[in-house]
Order: sequence, then structure tokens, then C-alpha cells
Amino acid sequence: MAQFPTVRFLLGAYNFSQLPEDSGREVAIAGRSNAGKSSAINAIVGRQGLARSSKTPGRTQEINFFELQLGQRLVDLPGYGFANVPVKLRQHWGEVLTKYFARRQSLVGVIVIMDARHPLTDADIQMLELAATRALPLHILLTKADKLTRSEANNTLATVRKQLADDIGVQLFSAVTKAGVEEAREVLEKWLRREADSG
Ligand code: GDP
Repeated sequence: MAQFPTVRFLLGAYNFSQLPEDSGREVAIAGRSNAGKSSAINAIVGRQGLARSSKTPGRTQEINFFELQLGQRLVDLPGYGFANVPVKLRQHWGEVLTKYFARRQSLVGVIVIMDARHPLTDADIQMLELAATRALPLHILLTKADKLTRSEANNTLATVRKQLADDIGVQLFSAVTKAGVEEAREVLEKWLRREADSG
């Protein structure tokens, strides 16, 4: 069953000026290209094919805005970490995202997707630092957990947990088995619902 029955694609933005009106509440989702961000969005929202990963490095990347319901948005940020992205394009997204994190008033939290087999890469840490500039709530999904044994997955979770500040959420996730989908959805809904900034 669809978890957000009225979800719809709002728009894709390449420039900061193209963002939708900065009202209501939105949660951004970031992750290294191919980490499994699109699959995670589709699993959490409960709609296959909603988010599509751009398979061509650096091409037609946009910030994609989905309206979950009136005044509540999910924001799919461009995948980062491609090795061969032209410098100009890397700079472009660096500038747009820095502005986005610094200025976007409706942004209430950031979910970062990491492949559980290679978590906390340098690029992931840069993204966490960028998102931390305004002390926004952060939550990490260690996805593709189905590719690890249970003990490997639990070890990874414990190791990542230890490396992060206590107020950052971390959980295992799999778009294939749907493990952790409910937990991630609860975080998303909690952030989107919460009145005023109570932390
Ligand atoms: P994106 O580039 O971050 O949006 O990544 P995608 O969602 O397109 O996923 C990249 C690849 O990983 C695809 O082949 C997916 O089928 C696969 N994938 C994504 N999530 C999972 C998962 O939880 N488990 C497994 N086994 N594969 C996954």
C-alpha cells in the first residue's frame, strides 16, 4: 500500500533560483551515486519508480522535489562522489548545495544514504559537515544491508555509530528486504510533523 498516497513530483531544479517556494517543511535525502538513494526513497514513500537514479555521471542531475502532502516535501539531492564529474559541475553543485543548506528555512532534517559495505567515505563526511552547518537533525541509512550477514551488518552499525555524534541517527536499511523502511519512514514523518524547532 502506498504510504503517501498523494505524493507527486513537483519540480527539478538545477539552479538555486529554481527552488520551489521556501514554505512548509521539507526533508532532504543525500548520498553517493549508486549508494541506493533512489531505491530508498521509493521504498520509504511506497511508490516504485518515483525517484530514478541518473546513471550517467554528472548528466541531467537536478535537485528533485516531491510533495508528500500539502506543505511537506521530500528533496532528492544530486548523488555525489562520481570520480569523473567535470570540475565545473562539481563546483556548481558545491555552490548550490552550500546555499541550500545555509538558507533553506523549510529544511528540517537530512537523511544520508550510505552503502553499508562502504560507509563514511570522505565524500559522505563532507556531506555530513555541510548539513551540520545549521545543526540540522541528521539520520543515516546504511543501505544494502541484505548484502551483509547479520553479524557483519551489526558490526558495521556499531562501528559507524561510534564514529558519529550521539545526536545523529543511524540504522540498517534494505530496499530489497524492506528492513528498516518503517523506522526510516517514522523519522521522516516525525521531522515533517514537528512544530517549531524543538531539536
Ligand atoms: P542511487 O544512484 O543512489 O539512486 O542508487 P539506486 O537506488 O539506483 O541503486 C543503485 C543500485 O543498487 C541498483 O542496482 C539497485 O538495484 C541496487 N540497490 C539499491 N538498494 C539496494 C538494497 O537495499 N539492496 C540491494 N541488494 N541492492 C540495492
